[in-house]
Amino acid sequence: MRKLKITIPADAALILDTLNKNGHEAYIVGGCVRDSILGRIPQDWDITTSALPEETKALFDRTFDTGIQHGTITVVLHKENYEVTTYRVDGKYADCRHPDAVSFTKNLTEDLLRRDFTMNAIAYHPAEGFRDPFHGQEDIAAKTIRGVGDPALRFQEDALRMLRCVRFAAQLGFAIEPETWAALCANTALIQKISVERIREELEKLWLSPFQEKMPLLWESGLLAQIDPTLSARLIAHSQRILDELSACPKNALLRWCIVLQDYTPAEAKAFLKGLKFDNHTLRRVCLLLEYLPKDVPTEAYPLRKLVSIIGEEATEQLLLLQSILRPASPHRESKALFAKILADGNCLTLKTLEVSGKDLMEIGAPRGKELGSLLGTLLEMVLQEPEKNTKEILTEQARSLLKEKNLQ
Ligand code: ATP
Ligand code: MG
Repeated sequence: MRKLKITIPADAALILDTLNKNGHEAYIVGGCVRDSILGRIPQDWDITTSALPEETKALFDRTFDTGIQHGTITVVLHKENYEVTTYRVDGKYADCRHPDAVSFTKNLTEDLLRRDFTMNAIAYHPAEGFRDPFHGQEDIAAKTIRGVGDPALRFQEDALRMLRCVRFAAQLGFAIEPETWAALCANTALIQKISVERIREELEKLWLSPFQEKMPLLWESGLLAQIDPTLSARLIAHSQRILDELSACPKNALLRWCIVLQDYTPAEAKAFLKGLKFDNHTLRRVCLLLEYLPKDVPTEAYPLRKLVSIIGEEATEQLLLLQSILRPASPHRESKALFAKILADGNCLTLKTLEVSGKDLMEIGAPRGKELGSLLGTLLEMVLQEPEKNTKEILTEQARSLLKEKNLQ
């Protein structure tokens, strides 16, 4: 047994203790054990137990049923959630996605056997130490991702594991063990059975992973070609450049998607993002940034204020950042300095900061509706050109004369 001790949060330890005192086995398991061994901070602390879901529920005040059909109960302690799952054996996977049925077991090894990779199949108990029947600790020490049991069968059971495999390689900087890699390459077509949402989440985690040099496993395996042949061909053609660009980009999923999709027209990107069921905000923003990416951001005050008024401050900032990475020869530095000045000067860039409102204009006789909107637009345009004109007096006067002109016509 290794000497390493894992420091478990007090509440997770309390859950183990409560289950133990009531006659049940309980261990922390999976990602948190793997990450602790690696000296990484675990995102969440999952617990595996011989207790049945109802037995777990009876022992804690605040629980909710997360995936009770799969044996998972969430225990809430001090506003933190802990997933407690009953030892489980997965039945057949007819659809390459979900087991047809799960059954509970009293045997920890059986539960560990259903897990995807040896590094994720280690259990730990503060008093007992590690339970590691598949030698996950050795694989972690050797920085190796190895399927539990027969890797081909494991990928055939649940095709998402192939994407997890590549993602873990890039997150942890691990190599994929040859038999596991061969099984992955041989089964890539099965990824089509996986929901686009789960594919999207894995791809996103991959783009955010620190070991960029592992990302090509996604296309070298043929997995990406099964997900999207066009994207695969484009990434293969420009692999090294795109990897460099990703490493130059902050850890922001939306910006990294823009880098991955940089050669797409906005229309192509829209179709791609719709296909992966992206939320509307991300979809619109990525398309907007791709549309403006080839154009230089203005280096003169009025056109820059105009651009910001159209696309917004956040998008302008993102656009400048992307241009610094993807079009280093563009005048992004100059534009950025000017943009900073515009913001520091507090220039009015939207109707929100215009010194008159629709209500003010109606008080001086502007009609409601479309015309009011166009009047506000004219005033904003004037202020974008001459920011010093953003005072109530000037704008009201201007509005009066515009209204007069209209009435005279
Ligand atoms: P991360 O949270 O960083 O994505 P993780 O390993 O914790 O990594 P989770 O999805 O949180 O991943 O799953 C927790 C554990 O459940 C895993 O460590 C693994 O033991 C098991 N697991 C998760 N997904 C699968 C799967 N598709 N097939 C088999 N076991 C899985
Ligand atoms: Mg996890």
